[in-house]
Amino acid sequence: MSTAPDAAPPRRRRLRLGVLATALTAVLALLCCVGGAGAFFLTELGNEERDGQANGGCKVGRAVDITGQMPRFAEYGEGQLRNAAVIIKVGQDLKLPARGWVIALATAMQESALRNLANSTVPASLGLPHEGVGSDHDSLGLFQQRPGWGSVEQRMTPSYAAGKFYDKMIQVPNWEQQPLTVVAQRVQVSAFPDAYAKHEELAGKIVDALAGGAARTVRIAGRTVCDAARNAHIAASGWTAPLPGGIVSRFRTAERPSHNGVDLAADKRTPIHAAASGRVLVARCDPDHSGRRDCDRDGWPGKGGCGWFVDILHAGGYITRYCHMIERPHVVPGQMVAAGQVIGLSGTSGNSSGPHLHFEVHVDSDRSSNGAINPVQFMRERGAPLSGAE
Ligand SMILES: [Zn+2]
Repeated sequence: MSTAPDAAPPRRRRLRLGVLATALTAVLALLCCVGGAGAFFLTELGNEERDGQANGGCKVGRAVDITGQMPRFAEYGEGQLRNAAVIIKVGQDLKLPARGWVIALATAMQESALRNLANSTVPASLGLPHEGVGSDHDSLGLFQQRPGWGSVEQRMTPSYAAGKFYDKMIQVPNWEQQPLTVVAQRVQVSAFPDAYAKHEELAGKIVDALAGGAARTVRIAGRTVCDAARNAHIAASGWTAPLPGGIVSRFRTAERPSHNGVDLAADKRTPIHAAASGRVLVARCDPDHSGRRDCDRDGWPGKGGCGWFVDILHAGGYITRYCHMIERPHVVPGQMVAAGQVIGLSGTSGNSSGPHLHFEVHVDSDRSSNGAINPVQFMRERGAPLSGAE
């Protein structure tokens, strides 16, 4: 992987001491990995930038308003957003968690672009209020439901259509943990199942805008809480923190400008969870500076390479990277993984001075360092904040 940021040449060694948060006293190993920056002590944990604060917080239990002013989105007009609000309201009335609203929205976005569609082959539908005319079989409405789902009038009624979708959705085993694509496909039986996933990101943003940041909530032991998606609990957005350990080294600091991810504290053999559902792009040993592929032993600062690592491609062109695993990853290229699925165990292989997880987030399907963004803000906005990042 020529573009691996961990393959960058070693930089001048610096040592920096900082004040430790007491919660991190257990983490005393000097961690480092990308860029070969040498020993780098835990620093500046109280100095996190305030990014993301302006994007609105997360409130549990805010009821959606289907009659008020709709938020603005470039992709959809007011009528479409009002349909989205109806879909969310039905989910709220059914006491379903916000993950269900996101799944329902993404499904309707794919099926009808959030328009209540009549059908040219179903004359009765043309006499009912509609926002467009489709021609797919005899499908009707927001979810393009066929006659077995209800009468023409019922399927052309957004609240009815949404209710029927939810009825079937909750029959999908383990639906809250399954990839959106899997759940939507089990309900809809579409010829193009992968098409649902591409709407997940925007569906989450619409849920956030209409229901007080609800895509950032997660249901744990029957309770709905904000910004707590970790330990394989999946936020309504579809994301979860890869492991519970706190941040011990940040993204592109002055000391390590080529550190294209964050380091998360983790003892050896801590399970690493996929941060979202997706397809494994890469799962292998990254060669070190000498071209060696000896990831089955502990690495060291300056060795180069990110050791045993995994890259996962997610909907929306996001890629997550997980470095320094202790052994061959538990997944293989091409494999589909669910959010929260264990993909490997933490270690200290490659350019690393102690057990931890080096975690990266990339945009635009760009695996190179050009595509890397700060994972802190990204994960926070999805209700899966990295510990120590608040
Ligand atoms: Zn790192």
